[in-house]
Amino acid sequence: MISNKTPTIYQVAVPSPLRRLFDYLPPSTLPTSTLPLTNSTEAGANSLLPGVRVLVPFGRRKVVGIIVSTRQKSSVSLAKLKPIDSVLDIEPLVPQQLFELYQWAASYYQHPIGDALSSALPALLRKGEAIPEKNETHWQLTEQGKGLPDTALSRAPKQQQALNLLQKNLLLEKKTASRDDFKQLDTSISVLRQLEQKGLIETVKIQPDSPIFDVENLLSEQPLTLYPEQQQALDNINLHGFNPYLLHGETGSGKTEVYLQAIEKILRYGRQALILIPEISLTPQTQRRFQMRFNCPIAVLHSGLTDRERALAWNAARTGQAPIVLGTRSAIFTPLKSPGLLIVDEEHDSSFKQQEGFRYSARDLAVIRAYRESIPLILGSATPSLESLYNCEQDRYTKLVLSSRPGNAVQPRWQPVDIRKANLSSGYSRELIDAITDTLAAGNQALVFLNRRGFAPTLSCHECGWIANCHRCEARLTVHRSPNRLLCHHCEHMEPVPASCSFCHSAHLQCIGQGTEKSEETLEAMFPNTPVIRVDRDTTRGKQAMQAIVDQVNRGEPCILVGTQLLAKGHHFPNVTLVAILDADGGLFSPDFRAPEKMGQLITQVAGRAGRGDKPGTVVLQSHHCDHPLIATLTQQGYNAFSEELIRERQLTQLPPYRHMALIRSEAANSASAVQFLKFVRQCAERLLPATDKIGYLGPLPAPMEKRNGRFRHQLSIICSERPTLQRMMTILCQELEQSRLANKVRWSVDIDPQDMT
Ligand code: ADP
Ligand code: ZN
Ligand code: ZN
Repeated sequence: MISNKTPTIYQVAVPSPLRRLFDYLPPSTLPTSTLPLTNSTEAGANSLLPGVRVLVPFGRRKVVGIIVSTRQKSSVSLAKLKPIDSVLDIEPLVPQQLFELYQWAASYYQHPIGDALSSALPALLRKGEAIPEKNETHWQLTEQGKGLPDTALSRAPKQQQALNLLQKNLLLEKKTASRDDFKQLDTSISVLRQLEQKGLIETVKIQPDSPIFDVENLLSEQPLTLYPEQQQALDNINLHGFNPYLLHGETGSGKTEVYLQAIEKILRYGRQALILIPEISLTPQTQRRFQMRFNCPIAVLHSGLTDRERALAWNAARTGQAPIVLGTRSAIFTPLKSPGLLIVDEEHDSSFKQQEGFRYSARDLAVIRAYRESIPLILGSATPSLESLYNCEQDRYTKLVLSSRPGNAVQPRWQPVDIRKANLSSGYSRELIDAITDTLAAGNQALVFLNRRGFAPTLSCHECGWIANCHRCEARLTVHRSPNRLLCHHCEHMEPVPASCSFCHSAHLQCIGQGTEKSEETLEAMFPNTPVIRVDRDTTRGKQAMQAIVDQVNRGEPCILVGTQLLAKGHHFPNVTLVAILDADGGLFSPDFRAPEKMGQLITQVAGRAGRGDKPGTVVLQSHHCDHPLIATLTQQGYNAFSEELIRERQLTQLPPYRHMALIRSEAANSASAVQFLKFVRQCAERLLPATDKIGYLGPLPAPMEKRNGRFRHQLSIICSERPTLQRMMTILCQELEQSRLANKVRWSVDIDPQDMT
């Protein structure tokens, strides 16, 4: 019985910027019969379980919250507590263990729990709606239709045929027929409408039977015969219990085939596999390879879905209806009925780290999730992150290596081109132009990589040196030609291309440097008889755009691809034999300590597009610093030696992964406020943990791009040799900062294990 004196207090996570839970009284009308009961009699027989969504009053609004725990006493007086308005779920939405992972993530990443929990859910559920059901429209006979003789409509044979199908079905004790059933009879929808209008049939909503998943019939194509290294990697994967692996396979070495065969095994155990990949819409091939191999439902979760589609896919994973779940970053939060295997493909990819709001790393959460669910984890990459390589060194992960390519394919040959004093035509050296000419003459394809979209990165006045800058950012405006305009790549500010200089009014304006649009134009002029295909964010906006490009390239005729890093991601173009990197120097002198690592990964990934078929490939790398030790190591000794050098450097400088980092950012319309807040943060932090050899503070310092979108940005980094120490300190620090008056004057955020320091 509920005692009136000590009602259970519910601690609810409410979407708000505060890092705390809020107390509520039980709802006044508790629909007891439909709600699950906890075993605890102390907590009152009618407790709602953690993970159940509720509607609660919050300020003047009603918001969707999630019950996290219960307690007997609140720090707020009972008279002031408000009751839960209504209960939205009969049972918790996700398994307890996963719900605990959500909470762990909120606390580890120092993110307000209400916001973290709701962003772990599909948008539809976040908004308080019920889990959608998959309905199909079927047709059935009305009473009038049932009474009709089976030749009554012989003057309308199409209608007669449709009616007869339903009559026949009825005899077989099947009351309805689906759209597909009618399609087999060639019955059009208008024929069904006519029967509906005559009152003979009516529509009903049917929940389709879950497709029966037949293990005997699991595969729809034969798996490839693994070559020995692949077989060894597969054999070494222990599918029972928590076993983390780093599958370090060169580009094109057949990692995906290893995943597919590991997944096959886990499905045969009746378990599910969750695979995270960086970006689905840009790599339609990956999704297709899974669908071609397996004869079972695959739930696909990515940002291109509608809220309803996403919630349906999420639910198919949750109910176990989809044995395979394929998704981008946020799919790490998808519940699984019987988890069996986690895979993170291209684990080094920075898209696994959310860069705003709830700044979690899906790759790192995958490790925690696999541990908590006691399942194996495969992190795969041709260019593993230094973190994962370090974890292998520390024996936390087992390393599996694929060092060659299947069949006749071999790793490409490097050809560095020193462009310090070279005479370039629009960025192209003589050597490169010759290489492209030879490639096309041999009937092959070339790929030119240039990580800058638009026509030119700078518009300048030839008379006075004026440069078109963004007035909101500390950045130049990029000239775009199709359509014609100046665009800021940092704040999306757009303006027309001026006819004359804003300073001296000279009409002599010039574009300096080149982007993909300019390169496309240059290549078209140099190779007028060859199609030039540009691949960047501007040409791949449409849903099918990337697929159309992939299809065109895979038809195999000679062509030149020119594009940004979108070209580096996972594509398999068997006829590309030449890859050109127009300017390799981007990452060498950046203030971000991760820039060289990212540069090496990008160059290696792009280079990996060459020679994936039977023909050997070449990589032309243009650089002003061909003798720079990092460039030299990468091109002469490969990514392994390169990453070892970087790890040694990180050890010397005691940067991650040797120590752990938290970055506190602050931004304000007024630079001084942003700095003042961070000075205060540093004071608080140093009071909690004075700087020692274990913990260090750096800042406040201006962000590498100090002004962006009209605001001034500063940052403070904290670096510590012990993760738990840093975490404890950050938890107390964030609580203090939330209360501070200074915090109201700025926009501030905490980034744990930051990936991007700009
Ligand atoms: P990765 O994922 O390492 O980039 P993929 O799995 O895409 O490499 O494999 C590259 C190519 O090699 C694909 O066309 C794939 O079908 C082929 N391949 C992979 N494994 C084998 C094998 N054992 N035998 C023959 N071809 C293979
Ligand atoms: Zn801008
Ligand atoms: Zn001028």
